[in-house]
Amino acid sequence: MFAASVITLFPQMFPGPLGASLAGRAAEDGVWSLQAVDLRQFGVGKHKRVDDTPAGGGPGMVMRADVLAAAVDAAATPDDPRPRLLMSARGVPADQAMIRQWAAGPGVVIVCGRFEGVDERIVAARRLEEVSIGDFVLSGGEPAAIALLDAMVRLLPGVMGNERSAGEESHEAGLLEYPQYTAPAQFEGEAVPDVLRSGDHGRINAWRRERAEQLTRRRRPDLWAKFRGASGEKES
Ligand code: SAH
Repeated sequence: MFAASVITLFPQMFPGPLGASLAGRAAEDGVWSLQAVDLRQFGVGKHKRVDDTPAGGGPGMVMRADVLAAAVDAAATPDDPRPRLLMSARGVPADQAMIRQWAAGPGVVIVCGRFEGVDERIVAARRLEEVSIGDFVLSGGEPAAIALLDAMVRLLPGVMGNERSAGEESHEAGLLEYPQYTAPAQFEGEAVPDVLRSGDHGRINAWRRERAEQLTRRRRPDLWAKFRGASGEKES
């Protein structure tokens, strides 16, 4: 079973969206488990403090390394093989290849930051990988943890009923997905493209491929350059 442990000041945020739909059903079926570890329990003193003022001054509060370490140690023994991810606006941006790798392993331990972030010393002390979900700032790591876990859980064996070919979805083959249509055939004067109603699968595939390439080129020149580089290498 894929085992996720999330260290958080807000355990009530879990499972949240992960308790519904695909992920919720998969948890009920025993495909994965989620443990929310309440960071407050590891706080120091009568008030169970988890943060303090930044060394050197400046605004806000910083989460204490000793408190975080105690929580990580409670969630994962030193020989626990699960990767430990720290949600961080400064982290490596997560992508589908990283999600696949984590989903193929035994699970993950995720540390959610709050306030101005965490004492730097925790990163090396507990071998945390700093991971970001995009170039914007959240108020806490919990929505990031939920987004990453959602992406991992849908890849676990048996979770998606109608498993799609890995090559077709956005970010799997390096292209964004082609546009999709369904009923009705006419919507506010816009028809479903004829080719999709032709029944000619060769033409349909060619059309989809072309539209996927066009969309990627226009919308995500960064992905397009990478895709071109990768397919160039294969040809040579
Ligand atoms: N002062 C920090 C931001 C703190 S935001 C900085 O400038 O980098 C509070 C917490 O929200 C962070 O500790 C982190 O856990 C989480 N967070 C914010 N933005 C995130 C992002 N893009 N991806 C993942 N986690 C994020």
